[in-house]
Order: sequence, then structure tokens, then C-alpha cells
Amino acid sequence: MSNVATDVPVEFCSGDASAGPVRQLLPARAVSLGPGTEVRRLLPSLGRRMVGAWCFVDHYGPDEIAARPGMQVPPHPHIGLQTVSWLLDGEVHHRDSLGSDVVIRPGELGLMTAGAGIAHAEQSPNPHGALLHGAQLWVALPDAERAIAPRFEHHSGLPVITEPGLRATVLLGEVAGARSPGRVHTPLMGVDVELAPGADVLLPLEPDFEHAVLTVSGAPDIDGGELAAGALCYLGCGRSQLRLRAPAGGRFLLLGGIPFDEEIVMWWNFVARAGAEVAAARAHWQAGPPTHGSDPLFGAVPGYDGPALGAPDLPPTPLKPRGRAR
Ligand code: MN
Repeated sequence: MSNVATDVPVEFCSGDASAGPVRQLLPARAVSLGPGTEVRRLLPSLGRRMVGAWCFVDHYGPDEIAARPGMQVPPHPHIGLQTVSWLLDGEVHHRDSLGSDVVIRPGELGLMTAGAGIAHAEQSPNPHGALLHGAQLWVALPDAERAIAPRFEHHSGLPVITEPGLRATVLLGEVAGARSPGRVHTPLMGVDVELAPGADVLLPLEPDFEHAVLTVSGAPDIDGGELAAGALCYLGCGRSQLRLRAPAGGRFLLLGGIPFDEEIVMWWNFVARAGAEVAAARAHWQAGPPTHGSDPLFGAVPGYDGPALGAPDLPPTPLKPRGRAR
């Protein structure tokens, strides 16, 4: 398999305490995103901050939302990262300051590249279906490209790999020769793997990547151990394939990438390299939507009816850049 991005210096997994294949269970943490919205946060965790350039992983649902508002995230800003909206059940209405206005459905990739700055809102459509189940993932942009112009991509025709017992949709990057149209800035991959009952398959991996697995349903056997939802299983580097078995079926997300060797500052919705950048981005956002002639670091989100999300207070101690492992 080739690397997913060109002109990116390839670094290998050597010279690191976790250089080879490992199997490290990182339990999820319950996080409340507002009234009635609880998610399982898998990255960053106490044990690890990043897997490749993947720096944030939330798994939510399946939640019964028939008589509830569902997802209601008012406009908020991002810098320095890409967000990946991935739905397993239900729909999310995405609107952003570029004017994007899209409903994202299961099997479709919503890929928002914040770059220098963007604002977006995410809501369950009204009316909406009974169930909401999905993942919110972030990818850190490398230093050289983190101030690029923002963009939004919506891909409904993602490549699907089929083998007996396996159906895998490639969200980002390349898996087994199938490549996602989503634009990435470091070599990485993300795939949604569905296993039929009785499946026993080998999935080829890029050995220079580190990988991690997040089960979303069932308890598939990943490389010789059952893995139920509620934890991220870090697999380390140096694997050229992964044995997948599922006596009762199962479904998981597999994320991977070249270890990200830059230290980052991650706070609220921002990925930066210094605390001062975070403070500046926060101040821009708190100043409100740009008026004519002002610095439009973050635009308004057209069509959203309601107040934007305010930033929390900065912590009393300085925000420091940190590396991918703990
Ligand atoms: Mn967001």
C-alpha cells in the first residue's frame, strides 16, 4: 500500500518505547456535552493522546432520541484540525461558516478541514429518526499545513472492501488498495469494519502505521482478544495484517497513521502549537461574529437560529505543547 499523502516525510515506528505491536486497552471516559448528551471519549485518554494524526475520538449512542432534540451543538470554532463526522445510525445536519449546509447520513463522510479557522453547527434534523449512533473524530494538521484555508467535503461514494464475512468502508486514507476521496495531510487511515457472524478474515495493514480499534457493536475478536465497546485498543506499530474473527458478528472502527511526532496544544476546539495561539483564537471567537472590515478568523454560521457556544475560561496554568504518548 502506498502512503496516503505525498510530500510528507515518512517517519518510522522505531526509536520509541511502543515501537512494536502492542495491545493496550484504554478505557473510555464518560463526558457530558450538554443536557441529555453523554459521549464516550476514547482520545485523548489517560494512556495516550494520539494515534497517528488522530487526536480526538468520541463515540456516542446508540441513543433513543425519538422524543428528544437529539444532537444540538450550536456554532463553535475550530483551528488546526480536521473533523470527521461518521454516523452509524441517524442523521446530522452540518452547517458551517463557508456556507456548507448538508445532512450527513450513515456511510457518508463529513470531513471539515478547519485550517486557519472555521465555525460550524451540528444538529439532529427536525424531524429525525429514533436512533442516533456515531463517532466524532479529529485529525491534527501538520505544522506546515495547519493554517490552510478551511474547506468542507461531503463524500457519499466511499470505497467499500468486501470479503467473505467482511464489509469495510474506507473513511480516510487507503486500505487494501481502496482509497477514500477525503483529503488528508499526513499518512493515515480510518475504516469502518462490519463482520458477519462466523467471520475470520485477515485485513492488511501498513506496518509503518500505529493503529487502534474502537468497537461500536458486538464484541469482535481483534488479533486474539475479544473487544467490546467502551475502550480503545491501541495496537502499536509494526503490524502488516490484523486477524479479525467474530463468532456473533461485530463492528468496529480502525484508525491508524504514521506516528505524529510534533507536540501540540489541544484545548477546547483548537489544535495549536503554543498556548498563546489558543488564547488568541479564543479571543477572536469571544469577540463575536465578524462585522464588515473586521478580521474574519471565524465567520458566522448562516441558517443557524440561536446563540453560538461561548468558550470556557482558559486554565489558570499555561497550556503547554504535549506529545502523542503519555
Ligand atoms: Mn465541532
